[in-house]
Amino acid sequence: MTSNRLRVALQKSGRLAIESQKLLKTCGIKFNINEQRLIVHSDNLPIDILRVRDDDIPGLVMDGVVDIGIVGENVLVEEQLERQIYNKPASYTKIRQLDFGYCRLSLAVPAEFDYQQPNSLSNLRIATTYPNLLKQFMQNKDIAYQDCILKGSVEVAPRAGLADAICDLVSTGATLEANGLKETEIIFKSKACIIQSPATQPDEKQLLIDTIMSRVNGVIQAKESKYIMLHAPKDNIQSVINLLPGAENPTILPLSSSGDIGNMVAIHAVSREDVFWDTMEQLKQLGASSILILPIEKMME
Ligand code: ATP
Ligand code: MG
Repeated sequence: MTSNRLRVALQKSGRLAIESQKLLKTCGIKFNINEQRLIVHSDNLPIDILRVRDDDIPGLVMDGVVDIGIVGENVLVEEQLERQIYNKPASYTKIRQLDFGYCRLSLAVPAEFDYQQPNSLSNLRIATTYPNLLKQFMQNKDIAYQDCILKGSVEVAPRAGLADAICDLVSTGATLEANGLKETEIIFKSKACIIQSPATQPDEKQLLIDTIMSRVNGVIQAKESKYIMLHAPKDNIQSVINLLPGAENPTILPLSSSGDIGNMVAIHAVSREDVFWDTMEQLKQLGASSILILPIEKMME
């Protein structure tokens, strides 16, 4: 399928849907989601958004049906392993790691199970939605097991007598606990990422992807940075700067007033990290005042 418009696959609804839409909007892509519509056309750029189940996103990218997609690494690697078995197209390029969708794929057993090491699961039955990631982990450890592949409600499998253990996604662990299970082994750590199809053509599409990616970088860098403004005594400029986390090349400005603050300068800096209360207190001890820490919305270098 060829189209001159860039095709982007996002999860229709679920844990990644809102953050994925928000990211595209912050990058200046305008669109309105209508719950009923699976394809949404951007109002200001040649971009079509396909809203699908997250499980379908890696395959759509690998088959070249869409140019880019936002998906969890867990779903991505599972689909890649599955396709390798059947010799289906399985290549993609991960063009950006994102800062949402954090979770882990873990083994868990009933709370009363005497678990020592992965070997404790030898020859037992493990319920999962991720049979290929589970198989990779167990084969690496050379442990034989049986699998019970479920599409959902994996956490009830032990109680329902379907399996002895489970291999499922965990973020806080509350669901496991509520089902009388304990997490015993993390087998895969995941977050959302942007992937690109090897089939993307022509060059204008690639240029548009590059522009979007540079904006995505700007959005993520901005989220991780803070703008710091403060007044500092001229004698202590260097010690003040040394305290600012990851702030290279701060701007130093004279203050217009004289009098008490005549020996002070204003320092403005972008910090690559959060600035904590204890740092602000130490700045104050060095004689700094009017300390402001501001969020940054966008940045471009
Ligand atoms: P779909 O209807 O699109 O197939 P789903 O029910 O399979 O949705 P969600 O529960 O919305 O999927 O999760 C989507 C992705 O969000 C997961 O594949 C994973 O990458 C990420 N995620 C983050 N935290 C969790 C969590 N606690 N449990 C499950 N997934 C999580
Ligand atoms: Mg899914």
